[in-house]
Amino acid sequence: MNGTEIERLIQLLGRLPGLGPRSARRVALHLLKKREALMLPLSVALSDASRAIKPCSMCGNLDTVDPCAICADVTRDGSLICVVEDVGDLWAMERGKIFNGRYHVLGGTLSALDGVGPDELNIAALVKHVGSGSVREVIVATNATVDGQTTAHYLAERLAPLNVPLTRLAHGVPVGGELDWLDDGTLATALKARRAL
Ligand SMILES: [Zn+2]
Repeated sequence: MNGTEIERLIQLLGRLPGLGPRSARRVALHLLKKREALMLPLSVALSDASRAIKPCSMCGNLDTVDPCAICADVTRDGSLICVVEDVGDLWAMERGKIFNGRYHVLGGTLSALDGVGPDELNIAALVKHVGSGSVREVIVATNATVDGQTTAHYLAERLAPLNVPLTRLAHGVPVGGELDWLDDGTLATALKARRAL
């Protein structure tokens, strides 16, 4: 029988994406075996990160500074906004070094099934930003999933009155595909060949 602390550790680890109860037990055991080399540094890193990292008030990216390093970077083109579902998608775009504009992180997608409506997403700030007159193109880079497409169409409707050109990532993004799983070349092609939404 495991101690309460071990049970709690396994339970929390089991809530991480991709970890079932069995992998959670394996990870917990691994951490306990590598207490000095891994468990303690990890617990410090977790607590530091939870204290220092916050969402950027302009774009929703995660960083230790607000505005984030991308929003604060004057060499980037602030008139080009790439709308992504999550910070992971922003990371995917940045990994490929293919985009020199700024981002807007929605924090998810519209989903009737999960009860996620427009108010649950970072959409009002996007409408305000695009309406400010400083934006010349909005690239909607939500995933090619059903919810991603639904969200893209909703954004097209919401942003239409502002008369700013909207584009969508083009071919190369497979149906059902998520940005984070694409290789950098495919993502670069999809960005270059983006089409009007
Ligand atoms: Zn930002």
